[in-house]
Amino acid sequence: MTVQQEKNPIPVPQVEPRAPIPKQNLRIPGPTVVPDEILAEMARPMINHRGPEFAAILRRVTARLQYFFQTRSPVLTYPASGTGGQESAIVNLFSPGDHVVAITIGSFGNRFARIAETYGLQVSRIEFPWGEGADPDVVESRLKTLPPYRGVLVTHNETSTGVTNDIQTLASLIRRHNPDALIAVDAVSSLGCIPLEMDLWDLDVVFTGSQKGWMSPPGVMMIAASERAWQANKSAKLPRFYFDWASSRKRLEAGQHPTTPAVSVFYALDRALELMLEEGREAIFERHRRAGEYVRRRAREMGLELFANPRYASNTVTAVRLPEGFNTKAFMKALREQDGVVLGGGQEHLEGKIFRVGHLGYFREEDLAEAMDKVEQRLRSFGFTGR
Ligand SMILES: *Cc1c(COP(=O)(O)O)cnc(C)c1O
Repeated sequence: MTVQQEKNPIPVPQVEPRAPIPKQNLRIPGPTVVPDEILAEMARPMINHRGPEFAAILRRVTARLQYFFQTRSPVLTYPASGTGGQESAIVNLFSPGDHVVAITIGSFGNRFARIAETYGLQVSRIEFPWGEGADPDVVESRLKTLPPYRGVLVTHNETSTGVTNDIQTLASLIRRHNPDALIAVDAVSSLGCIPLEMDLWDLDVVFTGSQKGWMSPPGVMMIAASERAWQANKSAKLPRFYFDWASSRKRLEAGQHPTTPAVSVFYALDRALELMLEEGREAIFERHRRAGEYVRRRAREMGLELFANPRYASNTVTAVRLPEGFNTKAFMKALREQDGVVLGGGQEHLEGKIFRVGHLGYFREEDLAEAMDKVEQRLRSFGFTGR
């Protein structure tokens, strides 16, 4: 022990009671509600992640993810959040100085662009006002004015504004303009909930995270790359180690995860995918369509204004505008503490101006109804009587 440590020991932390997690209607757009039967899976004992039990889980989960991604490419998984997916796409596709186009309609689109800049790429932004989707005609005319580009970064569902881009249309016009462009799609808050067909739409990279539309806790990022992207990966010079796709793929082909996987989250994801297959892709999409319509209708009926252009309204998250000068902070606090309803707030310049309702992954109609009823009652108690 050094003299310094003897004189100034690091105190033993006080034993503090751990507060129970209150029963609440969690309506934020991730992490989302995990149903009890999936939570229970996580109580299973640890296993050797290099042993036969985990290999079986990994094989099963990978095949099911390929189905939900609608791709024949391998789906790689990493212990990471959605941002890891963004970084993984950048470092595996590009080389320093490459020119990429970032189509951004909100906070997560901006983050994707910033990661590209952080790694020394030349980024041209095609930006749309928050609440709007990426207008295909505008994107097409802007692409024509740009110098040659290697890739396009685009968000499928912009969680910060409750907007869903028409990825199929955007991808096909990008492809027409630049057949070799690497199209990287952030599908973190859409995949599994809203239609997306990776191979059919000719998307090069698609990634998502377990805590959004997959009825699972945070901890697993999933990403797939097209044949074009795998070719690009061979010559992509950006440094990478943890997220290196080529070494991960080799491990996956041997039934192994690249590093220690988030074993408990895999237990959950394995069961969640089983439940999703039982429900069926179309039925899941339909459930989310109904949820989106319901939440939007309820908000409008309360006299509130929806933040997103209705043409691009998301079926996984709804952003609702609050009146100028409204005490949003107190409103959300009362909902949380007195009504047990936890809403998402606004990000960046939207803080205090909107609230967001998550309706992705696991939810029952009565949960959404309860949340919207409580919102309506609370608005009234805050003196809001409609516009
Ligand atoms: C949640 C989310 C992310 C990543 O966020 P993490 O906090 O890193 O999981 C990225 N893009 C979108 C569209 C998201 O919804």
